[in-house]
Amino acid sequence: MNHPKEDVLAEIRWMAEMKLDFIDLTLEPPAAAPWRVDPKAVRKALDATGLKVVGHTAYYLPMGSPFESLRRASVAELRRCLEAFAEIGAPWMNVHPDRHAPMHDRAFYIQKDLESLAELVDVGRRLGVGVMVENLPGDFNTVAQLAELLEPLPDLGLHLDIGHANLLVERNTADSLIAAYGNRLRHAHLHDNKGGSADLHLPLGAGTIDVARHVRTLKASGYDGTITLEVFSPDKSYLEHSRDILRRIWDAPEASAGGATPS
Ligand SMILES: [Zn+2]
Repeated sequence: MNHPKEDVLAEIRWMAEMKLDFIDLTLEPPAAAPWRVDPKAVRKALDATGLKVVGHTAYYLPMGSPFESLRRASVAELRRCLEAFAEIGAPWMNVHPDRHAPMHDRAFYIQKDLESLAELVDVGRRLGVGVMVENLPGDFNTVAQLAELLEPLPDLGLHLDIGHANLLVERNTADSLIAAYGNRLRHAHLHDNKGGSADLHLPLGAGTIDVARHVRTLKASGYDGTITLEVFSPDKSYLEHSRDILRRIWDAPEASAGGATPS
């Protein structure tokens, strides 16, 4: 994933040099805001490097807000991202469900999230960009919690974050989410942490997540799509190391149901 403080074209360059398969392109301020990024230039850079692209958006947009004007503004900003991703050529864009509605019950912000998501799914359909929802620790991390968003909206995809699935839970929920909604899975995030509440975004192997187990579950489910290594460190060798670990697990014979390897 590109760093929102860095120039997107420069980020694409080092990812191509590292021989990654794709960029998880987050369009968010300051440097990667949709009003600062030129979609045509991004598409050109992707074509030149051969990198594919998945769309990501800011996690802090209040799309479930009790303030209707703020909810509308969040949808407007996410629509702007959808339009940019359509031009860039991203097949899917993620959104983060919102729960910041003090003094309201869960049913309220679920309803508001659903209103916002329904509109975005509609816009995305016209633009040719699918919308997927990312699981988050706390309120959107179990099968039952995500069902409240996924069941009413059959075209909404699931974006599984295996690191988030390890936070504020007794055991990692990734396997159960894959079992329940593997057929809705469109993208995955992978990073390590030590459970509890700290979303550490560590390199693979640096925390307590059984990465090999969850990658095997993912593969056994038939998933063969994109996996972002959401490893946040200024030292990019941690990302390279995580890439090598993931590749080793994915290619291991015991992880293979049908013997296929990802392209
Ligand atoms: Zn994530």
